[in-house]
Amino acid sequence: MTSEEKFKKVISHAKEYGFVFQSSEIYDGLSAVYDYGQNGTELKNNIKNYWWKAIVQLNENIVGLDSSILMHPTVWKASGHIDAFNDPLIDNKDSKKRYRADILIEDYISKIETKIQKEIFKAEKKFGNQFDRDQFLNTNSRVIQYQSKIKSIHSDFSKALENEDLISLKKIIEDLEIACPISGSKNWTEIKQFNLMFGTKLGASSESAMDLYLRPETAQGIFVNFLNVQKTSRLKIPFGIAQIGKAFRNEIVARQFIFRMREFEQMEMQFFIKPGTQKDWYNKWKEDRMKWHLSLGLGQENYRFHDHEKLAHYADAACDIEFNFPFGFKELEGIHSRTDFDLSNHEKFSSKKLKYFDSQKNESFIPYVLETSIGVDRMFLAVFSNSLCNEKLENGSSRIVLKLPAILAPCKVAILPLLKKDGLPEIAKNLLEKLKTEYSVSYDEKDAIGRRYRRQDALGTPYCITIDHQSKEDSTYTLRERDSMSQERLSEDEILKKIESKLSIKSWM
Ligand code: ATP
Repeated sequence: MTSEEKFKKVISHAKEYGFVFQSSEIYDGLSAVYDYGQNGTELKNNIKNYWWKAIVQLNENIVGLDSSILMHPTVWKASGHIDAFNDPLIDNKDSKKRYRADILIEDYISKIETKIQKEIFKAEKKFGNQFDRDQFLNTNSRVIQYQSKIKSIHSDFSKALENEDLISLKKIIEDLEIACPISGSKNWTEIKQFNLMFGTKLGASSESAMDLYLRPETAQGIFVNFLNVQKTSRLKIPFGIAQIGKAFRNEIVARQFIFRMREFEQMEMQFFIKPGTQKDWYNKWKEDRMKWHLSLGLGQENYRFHDHEKLAHYADAACDIEFNFPFGFKELEGIHSRTDFDLSNHEKFSSKKLKYFDSQKNESFIPYVLETSIGVDRMFLAVFSNSLCNEKLENGSSRIVLKLPAILAPCKVAILPLLKKDGLPEIAKNLLEKLKTEYSVSYDEKDAIGRRYRRQDALGTPYCITIDHQSKEDSTYTLRERDSMSQERLSEDEILKKIESKLSIKSWM
């Protein structure tokens, strides 16, 4: 199956099983805006809880915040978003399609990287156990050529981005002969900057209305509340403030399902530190965040760090954690060392002191900030696309199974009476009552048991408990495990213990 076909399957599965729907579908939808269905909402909430637990609950020096989407317009002047929150856009004159110039170049680089991976794969197959990856990378002439091409593109690309030099950026596209994926033509317009913020108005009459923006990131709500939280919590530096909330960006190119949306959700954490310590904290948070990702078991080979070509106006170091989405490695999370840019600017624009007072040293200073920022929806797509598989079974048939990390699964346990009679539903419902206070549980008595198992596989339910006639005799039930499809006859106590040990947060983090 090509990656494009796999991605189409991900999107159709998400719709068919109540995870993600196009927004306003009955009106033909609204581009790059999506709604989460009954199962998607649960999965999304579980992702948010998993992040919140790791960031807020497990760190005594990090607390939460829930700030508003609408903020005073000067916030966005101070943050630099009004002047600098732009994407370089370019149009193809033949297809009339609009692209982000930087993404066209990044995609070109990704294609060369894929070629390198293919060479590695071929050589691994050829040499088997004898294969030495490092030696191969350093000696294979084709790979060396690819690598040096990537290096030279990177160098021109970062220079052009650094200097906001749109003419050089276009020259890179022309020199690489990048063609429009739709028309195949290289007939490009000039590159223009495009501000991504959504404007709105506050006020009853058009004369007195105030121009506002829907926030393009949640971080600024944290910065403007920095002293409110610090003083009321009496936290000492280093400490962090975390927030989960909606953000809005008028994205130019939004064609990758929930990867790039115009309304999306972020999970951000700003960690306030002493100036001069940012390098250590940057490394620590890089490590911590990667550990969090790996704890979910989606495969170490599916993650990599990517240092930014161009540092944002506020950063002195920045990288992304990239994930291997169905369309290749792309940004999942950003880790940014933001210096004192935001707090200093808010101090300047608001004329309010935003300094932290160190009572031991009797001195005041503006803290530096280390930020971790991840999109809930991108995390959803990473987990969902990685988990969906079409598995061949020993008997020659196949099954569609969503191998979600059990801790994130929308429904943890499905309770299935073998028959709709003979007192089996009563026993099943009794069990449902016991389990539902602790876990999200579902009950299903329709269709043959095999079909019910398949339905739960497709929803990603890690455990099914089947109640049959023997259950009436000896109070034992069959516990079926999603991934191995193993079935074990156990007592209620044994089942509860097993489920508890697999779903306890301690066994994941
Ligand atoms: P990109 O380069 O892909 O546009 P970005 O660098 O602008 O992303 P950040 O500003 O660092 O993204 O935002 C932090 C996180 O928010 C990203 O890592 C991503 O997970 C998420 N995010 C950003 N833009 C979107 C979007 N349009 N739709 C969904 N998630 C997004």
